[in-house]
Amino acid sequence: MKKLKIFVILVAYIICFPVQAAEIDLQKLVNEVHAQFANENRGKNPDYIPALAKVDPKLFAVSIVTADGKSYSAGDIKHEFSIQSVGKAFNLSAVMQQQGEDAIVEKIGVNATGLPFSSIMAIELNEERSVNPLVNAGAIAQVSLLEAKNAKEKWQMIETNLETFAGRDLTVMQDIYKSETDTNVKNQAIARLLANYGRLYADVEESVDLYTRMCSVGVNTHDLAVMGATYANRGINPVTGKKAVAAKHVPQILAVMATAGLYDDSGLWLYKVGLPAKSGVGGGIVAVVPGKYGIAAFSPPVDAAGNSVRAQLAIEEIAKRLNANIFQ
Ligand code: GLN
Repeated sequence: MKKLKIFVILVAYIICFPVQAAEIDLQKLVNEVHAQFANENRGKNPDYIPALAKVDPKLFAVSIVTADGKSYSAGDIKHEFSIQSVGKAFNLSAVMQQQGEDAIVEKIGVNATGLPFSSIMAIELNEERSVNPLVNAGAIAQVSLLEAKNAKEKWQMIETNLETFAGRDLTVMQDIYKSETDTNVKNQAIARLLANYGRLYADVEESVDLYTRMCSVGVNTHDLAVMGATYANRGINPVTGKKAVAAKHVPQILAVMATAGLYDDSGLWLYKVGLPAKSGVGGGIVAVVPGKYGIAAFSPPVDAAGNSVRAQLAIEEIAKRLNANIFQ
């Protein structure tokens, strides 16, 4: 009798309160994940850009921003780091908006290289040359494709676009910009090789300089998470309400991020995490959960492919705990 009573109460409860996904405490989640990987010390700061070698390798921050603009962060969240290649995934919006989706396929390419981000071999082996917008060759080609009156105006377009995604004014980290400008001989070689194949669409020096400046823009993990959440929110920045890119372009951009966002480890990342993402040698990574979240993490030491070790682990863990894999 007692058992029956409990059963009836249980059934009545289920009918009255339909299964509600337990509200996840996202602040607790970022705190826990930050604590979980705080002592991880694999990886090494990149040193081919001397200024990046000097950044404190212990820095570590994690942020989530929801597609309706709520934000949660833990760790060194005030610390600004250079956006580096993460910027490529957002500059792509500006180029796609101006030049159209077909131009990205025809003038840059959208396939995986399976090779390191600054591979010369990838340019020689593939007929598209630049191969995809997220490796150095394709990112320099992206910048060259943008049409503007002059370099100054082009820079303004690049910067304003990143600022619309981040929802605040951003500045170039001059020490990084100078350090990379002094040492970017390989990117100059890449741009010249593209020009040789007719796959660079503006002046070599100007394109490499604008690309380098874009890579040197300073952001924190909250900014990156807002930028990711803007893609998650179909192109509208959920914090400012401003449109950063037309919704129709978002699936193509996320597809490119899924294909090439973590360079030659993109397949492994997609296999383990199942989310479009973009990393940079500055130590930042942002992942997008369409319709739900932008998830960002930062820590300077990177692995052999150039992806932050702790940022990958943190985002993988968050994605697991949020059940966010898009393929399930
Ligand atoms: N600015 C860096 C470079 O050109 C960007 C590379 C990266 O973040 N993977 O090498």
